[in-house]
Amino acid sequence: MYGQFKDHLIKELNDIREAGLYKDERIIVSPQGAEIELESGQRVLNFCANNYLGLSNHPELVKAAKEGLDTHGYGMSSVRFICGTTDLHKTLERKIAKFFGTEDTILYAAAFDANGGVFEPLLTEEDAIISDSLNHASIIDGVRLCKAQRYRYPNADMAGLEEELKKAQKNRFRLIVTDGVFSMDGNVAPVDKMVELAEKYDAMVMVDESHSAGVVGHSGRGVSEHFDIFGRIDLITGTLGKSFGGAIGGFTTGRKEIIEMLRQRSRPYLFSNSLPPMVVNAGIRMIDMMSETNELQDKLHANTDYFMEKMQTAGFDIKPTQSAICAVMLYDAKVAQEMAARLLDEGIYVIGFYYPVVPKGLARIRVQLSAAHKQEHLDKAIIAFTKVGKELGVIK
Ligand SMILES: *Cc1c(COP(=O)(O)O)cnc(C)c1O
Repeated sequence: MYGQFKDHLIKELNDIREAGLYKDERIIVSPQGAEIELESGQRVLNFCANNYLGLSNHPELVKAAKEGLDTHGYGMSSVRFICGTTDLHKTLERKIAKFFGTEDTILYAAAFDANGGVFEPLLTEEDAIISDSLNHASIIDGVRLCKAQRYRYPNADMAGLEEELKKAQKNRFRLIVTDGVFSMDGNVAPVDKMVELAEKYDAMVMVDESHSAGVVGHSGRGVSEHFDIFGRIDLITGTLGKSFGGAIGGFTTGRKEIIEMLRQRSRPYLFSNSLPPMVVNAGIRMIDMMSETNELQDKLHANTDYFMEKMQTAGFDIKPTQSAICAVMLYDAKVAQEMAARLLDEGIYVIGFYYPVVPKGLARIRVQLSAAHKQEHLDKAIIAFTKVGKELGVIK
């Protein structure tokens, strides 16, 4: 059998390559950080990691991880409900809830699992899920696993959401779901308007804070802080794999009874292994650090403002955003690819995004800022962008 299947795969893989959609992985041989070393020996400045707060290789987290390893060992060899829950897991869950101003938290192996396991246990075919058209793949997959009726509105379009909410009045329960920050444009979802509409049309609100937690809001408490709507979001999902340390892990935090039900029925929680204690202990340290000071958020916000302003002054077309994602619009896929390649030659690691990741004709380079970037890193990137931008005729 495999012979035929192999031929089939080779053909499909070739099609992917010919369409220019084949994803090659660049190999890093240093820890993740603002400056990294590639397998080629080249040292580059990294502007494409989700390392928003620069915690991926932070000495405090490395230390906490080692401590967790020493006190609680390497692995749990169990799911949570059999024998995979330690005091560390419970502490981190409590601390995440306190951070977001919610009632309780449930940890998962990844945010992909948190989103995959959140809808099906809570809603049935009588209910409605009203979803932003640009929501993350894990939300889309989670919704697919649930029997609730699906409604969709155009990205961040509140008139569109209102229309869908009207249609969904016939359903028993309604849940609006959105990313907090959309990863391609970096725009913050208008969650203030969403909670108002939710109150008007009797719906619940869920926000995936994967790109917004740690980043958005004065002290990084996400959209609740950004819009001052603490307590009005019913359900938040998020990741420990981006600004929260960058290792692995996800969570759902929110209303007590919802979390209690997820512990009983959420399949990725019930049937997948518990997070290793070292990751959990580093997570505890991470939340403590963020509760002690806003230093990292302040640095990130200052870096983002500086970079955006200088890039605009240089003549680049930048999408307005309040996140740490800076979309440098190039429109043409070939230009985006060429520009990213030339920037790498200049020691700046960024990635070009084009169809089908973003709509046709809206190719771009996505720059992700970090609290780990120093002034000289930002200046070097701006100089490189300006040089390559001129060479390619993107700016004058
Ligand atoms: C990155 C991301 C995820 C997945 O997070 P993992 O913990 O890596 O699985 C889920 N949702 C959104 C919006 C994301 O950006």
